Amino acid sequence: MVTEELSARQLRDRIAAGQITSVEAAEAVFKRIEELEPVIGAYISTYHDRALETAADVDRRLIAGEPVGRLAGVPVAVKDNMCTTFGATTCASKILENFHAPYNATVVEKLLAADAVIVGKTNMDEFAMGSSTENSGLKQTVNPWDTTRVPGGSSGGSAAAVAARLCFAALGSDTGGSIRQPAGFCGVVGLKPTYGRVSRFGLVAYGSSLDQIGPVTRTVADSALMMNVIAGHDPADSTSVDEAAAPVCDYLEKLNEPLKKLKIAIVPEFGAGADEQVQKAMTEAIDVYKKLGAQIVEIDMPHLDYAIAAYYIIATAEASSNLARYDGVHYGHRSEKATDYVEVYSKSRAEAFGKEVKRRIMLGTYALSSGYYDAYYLKALKVRNLIRGDFTSAFEKCDCIMMPVSPTVAFKIGEKIDDPLQMYLSDIYTIAANLAGVPGISVPCGFDQNNLPIGLQILAPAFAEDKLLAIARMFEKETDWHTKMPAIIT
Ligand code: GLN
Repeated sequence: MVTEELSARQLRDRIAAGQITSVEAAEAVFKRIEELEPVIGAYISTYHDRALETAADVDRRLIAGEPVGRLAGVPVAVKDNMCTTFGATTCASKILENFHAPYNATVVEKLLAADAVIVGKTNMDEFAMGSSTENSGLKQTVNPWDTTRVPGGSSGGSAAAVAARLCFAALGSDTGGSIRQPAGFCGVVGLKPTYGRVSRFGLVAYGSSLDQIGPVTRTVADSALMMNVIAGHDPADSTSVDEAAAPVCDYLEKLNEPLKKLKIAIVPEFGAGADEQVQKAMTEAIDVYKKLGAQIVEIDMPHLDYAIAAYYIIATAEASSNLARYDGVHYGHRSEKATDYVEVYSKSRAEAFGKEVKRRIMLGTYALSSGYYDAYYLKALKVRNLIRGDFTSAFEKCDCIMMPVSPTVAFKIGEKIDDPLQMYLSDIYTIAANLAGVPGISVPCGFDQNNLPIGLQILAPAFAEDKLLAIARMFEKETDWHTKMPAIIT
């Protein structure tokens, strides 16, 4: 059986029907990893034996007629900033290179409880800081569509792994676009859920008020399937939302519910900065919805222009505090050159943090310092509130907002690495959703003249993931972008 044609849901159904065994599926994935991983570099670690043991157990239970979980036998990958009791949890940082977590992140527990087969942990920008995975302190990941280009970031390993069929689905984390942007660059589906919908327990913190875990998948249905597994309240994460206040639904079941009188908002001025090819793909995507009877409304969201500025104050401020725990004492790397305890801190941090992480710790510490707190941090929080307000008033006029995922397609490796501002600008369309806490999805909507994928971003009101997925599915049904595969696979 040619497994690369299958989505996670199709594979799961075939395994359940006995048409393919879970072991066969895992072996097919590891065979492709053997062939392609030396080029793609999506994984920091893989767990062949462990995965095959889990797969064999799923097969045994299926034969015995015992109940199995929603992802029974499906090979999945997890970004390496989510704690696992097996292997290391590195965050692609030298400071955590040998860190072995004593517990599993809640999402990992949920994957295991659903009988998913965890194939490995994926590469990322160090501590999820970046847009290209070039900031990984451990290795380089390339874009499966063009190996001279970046896969996007920070969940570049997860997106490249799904696109190159080195797993059937993956988890990423999104603080300012890190699921949606790499998904867009790699031609796969990436969902950032509402802040609080998915537990962050065991996710190594970057910007705690912005971070959210979500699925990277081949199809919208797979995204819904993954959400069915990972969404929900977690007593271990006080920011995960009470289900009585915002119920979790069966996202797969609601996927094909017809959406009548769909009202889509676009923000013409804001979208105008994107490359011509990206804009063209966007216009064509909107036309698909028009043909399906959707009404398009033009809206103004005046504060979106300040999203990047506010984000880089808030995210770095939170990061500077979150990363203070890497002191050479509690976790990971300790300098061998330290002669007193102050040097244990300073030398361990100086030796093992990468350049971008240091830049952000300095920026954040500065923004929080007593003389500048009001001028920068407090101001940024006020801007954040205005951006939230923009979304609230927008959603009074529409069901969802559409815009590009990124202003460009995947750029060349090395192209932006020495120009942090250019790199930061690649998140212009994704960051506002994190500041406002609303969910957003990236779906494949075309290719540029060089056959590089383009993503359509759809944003919905908080906790409307069911609607968001259904809207994305409407588009997927009408188009075949999601069925295209990078040439490297065949
Ligand atoms: N690219 C953004 C940054 O560098 C977002 C990263 C993320 O979402 N983790 O901070």
